[in-house]
Amino acid sequence: MRDLQSPFLKLSLVLCALLLPVGGIRADEKPAVSTKPTVKTLGKGKVYETEYYELQGKLPGPTVLLEAGIHGNEPAGTLALEWLLPRLTVTRGRVLIFPRMHKVALGRKKRYLDKDLNKQFPGDRKSKVIERRLAAEIHTMVGTEKPNLVLTLHEARVHIMDGKCCAQTIIYGIDQPTDALRRATELVNLRSPDDRHRFQLFHYPIPTSSSEVFVRDFGLEAYCIETWLAEPMPRRVRSHLNAVTGFLEAYGIEFKVEGTYQE
Ligand SMILES: [Zn+2]
Repeated sequence: MRDLQSPFLKLSLVLCALLLPVGGIRADEKPAVSTKPTVKTLGKGKVYETEYYELQGKLPGPTVLLEAGIHGNEPAGTLALEWLLPRLTVTRGRVLIFPRMHKVALGRKKRYLDKDLNKQFPGDRKSKVIERRLAAEIHTMVGTEKPNLVLTLHEARVHIMDGKCCAQTIIYGIDQPTDALRRATELVNLRSPDDRHRFQLFHYPIPTSSSEVFVRDFGLEAYCIETWLAEPMPRRVRSHLNAVTGFLEAYGIEFKVEGTYQE
């Protein structure tokens, strides 16, 4: 498994920031490119301190939060977002990229330390349980950033085509999929190479999960993307990238990705 620490990513972001031109945009310049990502810190000084990144397009549009690493034993989403981050340019809307929600668990390649982070929302800052404190910080961040859509990238052991929950699914907790969700699923599946990599919509509400609590507390849309742990890592990363870019397109983000992910 690839090393999940990425000092090169941080270094490249710093270098990008240093190389940014200073001054206003001239009329003859091409309009509507996003600035380089703004780095933001969640849980500053805490054991679970972790970064997320904001890409703000010049044109108004929705905000989409892409998050991964909520379970430390499901690394493909983290790798997908870290591949995407330096290559993504946003022209309309705003994209927040949060690759390592539970950085400590990812570092240890464990699902969690004390309790499952995805069952601790909205969390408690005073709890002795690390995941409850971290959940509270993430909950506050989402309330502050106000995304319209949150996608959480997961992985699962059993493929949905083998009859059980829930690899290659898009999980929703609301009663009925919205038209936008159906459209996004179609766009995602146009990017999917074969039946086994197509995503099926799957209803699986978990009351204290990040998705359900965000929907309840902030009135946004939130879904989980599940890839299949039995596949080689590059295929899982590709599958997450297909899902994420399909959703961005469906929800009105205008963007460009430099290069193609090579499996
Ligand atoms: Zn998971």
